[in-house]
Amino acid sequence: MFHHREQIAAGTWVGFTDAGAGNLASRLGGDPAAVARNRAALLAEMGVTRGSLRFMHQVHGTAVHRLGPTEAPGVPVADALVDGSGTSALAVLVADCVPIVLVAERADGTTATAVAHAGRRGAAGGIATATVQALRADGGERIRAWLGPAICGSCYEVPAEMRAEVDAVLPGSAATTRDGTPGLDLRAGLERQLRAAEVEVTVVPGCTRESEDLFSYRRDAGTGRTAGLVWHTRP
Ligand SMILES: [Zn+2]
Repeated sequence: MFHHREQIAAGTWVGFTDAGAGNLASRLGGDPAAVARNRAALLAEMGVTRGSLRFMHQVHGTAVHRLGPTEAPGVPVADALVDGSGTSALAVLVADCVPIVLVAERADGTTATAVAHAGRRGAAGGIATATVQALRADGGERIRAWLGPAICGSCYEVPAEMRAEVDAVLPGSAATTRDGTPGLDLRAGLERQLRAAEVEVTVVPGCTRESEDLFSYRRDAGTGRTAGLVWHTRP
């Protein structure tokens, strides 16, 4: 069910699902009952209550949605979710794009959490730094980020002009594919960008295009979406 799962502080968890968790996205035109079953099984494994996992309607933009303390359940249109209370469970859904999970610690010992969806457009548009800024505005001092499995630079072929455009705004993302053609390594660019913003970065290994255990849009567009997650349990 999990490609990677880690308790990063007492009762605070970061995780990335694998294909064994099934498709978790409701907008792919698949069986809604299957998505509901997959989500319920995931919640049980995470140890969080039904309905407490928050998703977003991702549009490859740079909008950061900050969850309000009394916000009604819903799916905001955004590519990052920030929970200043450090109590909600957050999910970002991907297949090849980079899932980013962030945890910020405040001086008083409380935490804020966030997830972000960084595909080519969002990464180039600055979704990662926008999310970090939102956490800093919320009092976050020590900020840690986990970059989950995504399509790698050896697999992600793009036109040369596109590679140049993205690398101009996200330095370090230019890559060469295994066929010797222009490519993008978004995680490399995001890692450099986040480190420059004084964020501690962990890159979780795994290429979605190469691993049958992960969902890949480029390998099979209709197959499913995996989740990047941050959540809390009682120690
Ligand atoms: Zn690859």
